[in-house]
Amino acid sequence: MKDAYSLHLDQAGLEEAYQTQTHAYHRIYRRLGLTDVHQVRSATGDMGGTLAHEFMALLDVGEDTVAFCRGWNTAVNIEVLEQAVSCATCGGALDHRRAVEVGNIFQLGTKYSEALNAFAMDRSNVRRALVMGSYGLGVSRLLAVLIEQQHDAAGIALTAASAAVDAHVVQIGGGDSRAARVAAEIYAGLRARGLDVLLDDRDARAGEKFTDADLIGATLRVTVGSRAERDGTVEIRERRTGAVHEVGVTDAALAVVRLHQDILRREAAVN
Ligand SMILES: [Zn+2]
Repeated sequence: MKDAYSLHLDQAGLEEAYQTQTHAYHRIYRRLGLTDVHQVRSATGDMGGTLAHEFMALLDVGEDTVAFCRGWNTAVNIEVLEQAVSCATCGGALDHRRAVEVGNIFQLGTKYSEALNAFAMDRSNVRRALVMGSYGLGVSRLLAVLIEQQHDAAGIALTAASAAVDAHVVQIGGGDSRAARVAAEIYAGLRARGLDVLLDDRDARAGEKFTDADLIGATLRVTVGSRAERDGTVEIRERRTGAVHEVGVTDAALAVVRLHQDILRREAAVN
């Protein structure tokens, strides 16, 4: 869990920070490629305080239920829904969907600052209990939700912004082959350029290695096989689109880095 807290002299300060955090959370989810995330009102629960929201990713496997109207004027966790069957703003009926919580934010007010004696003097020298906000983002459950939304029949297919592995170098050929030397060079070159890289130099069949690479879901698969020897080329394949690029052995590492940057830019343009 990523936690953050904000401390203010008054409620207006808290509300400003609450808005800033809300905006930042939406940007984080968008950039990771998470879809269908909605901010819904939730119970303050054990944390206490005056107002709380959850960020809910709509998913059929979710453990929570969200009630919302068509325009999302009303959006609440059904835990806090009291008898309401229609939206107070538009009058529309409330629909229900399963969802997973991927973040929660609280306006805590002065509950903890009073208990902990956390006071400060304001500009007019008036002693005030600090007004607190709390902001949590569920990093580990976020990964589960991302995989739930971003996979195909072959395995994990995360966006480049959220994938754990940038490039997966698959060596086809024995340990003393030219392919093995080229694969090791490309692997070292990618690491030196700051990418997170896997090297598959196992003594296994090509099909098995490709299946495992798809399952793990690195953004790019770099296949180094007999063509590295024969025509001096390697193949780069994009996990999410399946697009294939042939590049020369000598500039393969640079080509992988550039392609990875291109994919990140493409994602940022739509997310
Ligand atoms: Zn409504």
